[in-house]
Amino acid sequence: MKDYYAILGVDRNATQEEIKRAYRRLALKYHPDKNPGDKEAEERFKEINEAYAVLSDPKKRAQYDQGILAAPEFQAEDLFDLFAQVFGFRSPRAAPRGEDLEAEVEVELQDLLHGAEKEVVYARLVPCEACGGEGGKRVVCPTCHGQGVVESYRQGFFGTFLTRSACPHCKGQGSLLAEACPTCRGRGRVARETRLSVRIPPGVDEGQVLRVPGYGNLAPGGPGDLYVRIRVRPHPHLERQGADLVYRLSIGLAQAALGARVEVPGLSGPIPLDLPPGTQPGEVFELPGEGLPYPGGRGRGALRVVVELSVPKKLSPKAQKLLRAYAEEVGEAVAPEGFWDKLKGLFRK
Ligand SMILES: [Zn+2]
Ligand SMILES: [Zn+2]
Repeated sequence: MKDYYAILGVDRNATQEEIKRAYRRLALKYHPDKNPGDKEAEERFKEINEAYAVLSDPKKRAQYDQGILAAPEFQAEDLFDLFAQVFGFRSPRAAPRGEDLEAEVEVELQDLLHGAEKEVVYARLVPCEACGGEGGKRVVCPTCHGQGVVESYRQGFFGTFLTRSACPHCKGQGSLLAEACPTCRGRGRVARETRLSVRIPPGVDEGQVLRVPGYGNLAPGGPGDLYVRIRVRPHPHLERQGADLVYRLSIGLAQAALGARVEVPGLSGPIPLDLPPGTQPGEVFELPGEGLPYPGGRGRGALRVVVELSVPKKLSPKAQKLLRAYAEEVGEAVAPEGFWDKLKGLFRK
C-alpha cells in the first residue's frame, strides 16, 4: 500500500483542512494541462488524486490507517471529477457517445459444438448524409458565441473563482438549429439496417450476451456498443442441461427384455448403443464426451440416454397370441381374451 500521507506531504494527524490545502497545491502543480507530455507529472497527478480520494473521506481514511482498505482503482475521468469538485468547476461536457444497442441472434444446438459465424441484422442510428449529421442549417449560438461553454464568477471559501459549464442555450453544442433537415427531421441521425457477422463461441449458454464494441448507435462522441443476446433454438430430440445433453430413448418390450443395438442421434451423427438384456425404464446410459463443449475450456460434457418403455397400444391377433403364450410361460395373470371388449361396450359409448 502506498503512503498517502507522504504523497501529499502531510503529517499522519493532519486535519482535513491541511489535507485539502496540500492537495490543491500539488494537484495544480502536477495537472496534466500544465505539464503536457510529462509522464512523470501524470503519474504524480494520479497518485495525488488517489491519496486525496482516500484521506479526504473520513471512513476510508480510518480504514487506511488501520491497514484494512483495499487498494482503490481510479479511472482517468474520476481523477478529473475529483479535481473539478475541489476546484469548483466542471470541464465542459464532451460530445455524447452513441447509445448502446441490443440485438438477438438465433443459433442451432449444433452451432455450439464448434462455434459458428452468424449474421446479426439490426437497425442503428448513423449520421444523416443529407445534412452531414448537423440536423440542418445551423447558426452560431448567441449566448456562448459558439464556444459551447459559459463562464461565471462564483463566491467560494477562498475568494471568487471562475466556473465554466456547458451553455444552457445550445446544450454545449455552440450552435442552434435554424432550419431542420427534411431527411432526418433535424435529428442529425437516421436509422439504417446493419448486418454484422458475429462469432458465436462453442458451448455458449442460452441468453448469454456478447459485447461488440463500436457497433451501437453512432454519435459525434464515438459509437456505442452492441450487445448480442444468443438464443439457442430447441433441438427436436436433444435437451440441454449445461454442457450435458439428454436424449429420451423409447424402446419396445422385447428390446428391453432381450437387449438391443440402437442408434442415438448425437450432435455429430448417430451413435450406436448396446442395451443389455433386462434394460429397465428410467435407466440412464451415459456417453461421455458426446455433450456440448465446456465454455472456454477443454473437453465436452456427456450425452445421457434415458430409457423409456413404449408399451404397444394395439397388437395384431398373432402378436396377442404370442404375448399370451409368454404370459402363461412366466406365470403372469392377464385379462381373459375379449374381456376388455366387453367392458368397452359398457364405458366407452
Ligand atoms: Zn439530416
Ligand atoms: Zn450556446
